[in-house]
Amino acid sequence: MQQFDYIVIGGGIFGCYAALFLAEKGGKVALIEKENHLFQKASLVNQARLHSGYHYPRSVATAAMSDEHKERFTLEHKAFVHTSFEKFYAIDRFGSFTDPQQFERFCAYLNIPCKKLDEHPLFNFDRLEALYQTVEHSFDPVLIGNYYREKIEKERNIQLQLHTKIERATTAANQWELELIDVLDGALKSQISAPVVINATYAATNSLNQLFGLPSLALTHEISEIGFITSKAFANKGLTVMDGPFGSIMPYGLSGILSLSSVAYTHHKISYEALPHFDCQQISDPTCTPQAPGICTNCERRPDSNAGKMLAQMRQYFSEKVEFDYLFSYFTIKSKLQSSHIDDGRPTEISLLSTHPKYYCLFAGKINSIYEVEKILED
Ligand SMILES: Cc1cc2nc3c(=O)[nH]c(=O)nc-3n(C[C@H](O)[C@H](O)[C@H](O)COP(=O)(O)OP(=O)(O)OC[C@H]3O[C@@H](n4cnc5c(N)ncnc54)[C@H](O)[C@@H]3O)c2cc1C
Repeated sequence: MQQFDYIVIGGGIFGCYAALFLAEKGGKVALIEKENHLFQKASLVNQARLHSGYHYPRSVATAAMSDEHKERFTLEHKAFVHTSFEKFYAIDRFGSFTDPQQFERFCAYLNIPCKKLDEHPLFNFDRLEALYQTVEHSFDPVLIGNYYREKIEKERNIQLQLHTKIERATTAANQWELELIDVLDGALKSQISAPVVINATYAATNSLNQLFGLPSLALTHEISEIGFITSKAFANKGLTVMDGPFGSIMPYGLSGILSLSSVAYTHHKISYEALPHFDCQQISDPTCTPQAPGICTNCERRPDSNAGKMLAQMRQYFSEKVEFDYLFSYFTIKSKLQSSHIDDGRPTEISLLSTHPKYYCLFAGKINSIYEVEKILED
């Protein structure tokens, strides 16, 4: 039995940040990741929007949390954040949950810049009720993944175990004791123990909670697609249409290409169960089960792309001179708190589900809220 101070489960940005934060404070940390590499799921497959608040006119709490951490995230990841593109937010003339007056009051309340534009050659004002010049940045998920991988490799206080799952979790003398197995062949890899466990597995949150005998969160899970496109006329620019079943096109970090999403078409299949159950999972495939979901982009049973529909929807907001070329798509599971249906909020929720020994369930919201973990782990 190898002894650690902390066991962090999940090697996305939230697990990696928590592991580094604890290790830099002198803690001995085991970081357990199911896949062969870190950063393969939601921390790679996302819109890369460094939220400034604009996106959540119905959730001041999420908007304020994004804005609170934005400066620090930008400063600490400045080599991987694209800060010099033009970003527009717009309100669709039809079916929006917000209107110009509400949006402007919301921006004023949060003190985030928004300048109304009455004309612009790239946009179609027949479909846009209002267009705003805003300030929003985009982080680069690939570069950030490389940065955290390198930091973790160098950090002597972290023992990283890839391609590893927890087979059994028991308690003894105020410690968690875990049996770790190989994902594919189920062979026993090691036994570890620690007084504190942090579950940062996002789509697998409830699977881990159940394994540790703890309650599930009320979640929904969606197989989601992010398309990637280019455009000569709309290079290095971003547009997000608010607030409802609309969409976004914006730079994917510093990659030079644009990400594409649409509320109506990004999400393919939905699971309302505690664990992400999808009809594409096959009993015979141990690398993707409701208990331990896999990497959707690499899966031959992933849904057919909706990029054509997403692009057709977004196309309506642009003038005829703007053209887009589709490149490829990434897929992953997006998990959301069921309560977020009301206000579309994405808070990061950290719950202490067991005190002796300690078990923190860290359910991630926006990427720039990684620092929330410090609030609870500092004591
Ligand atoms: C389509 C989409 C668009 C998004 N857009 C944005 C955006 O523009 N801006 C923004 O800030 N946020 C965005 N988000 C949210 C953001 O991406 C996530 O909140 C964040 O990446 C979650 O990070 P994480 O580390 O918790 O999860 P992940 O990156 O998913 O990492 C969890 C890790 O746990 C591992 N794991 C799972 N089960 C086990 C197990 N049993 N044992 C060991 N390891 C396990 C997984 O393999 C994975 O590596 C988006 C999310 C999606 C899906």
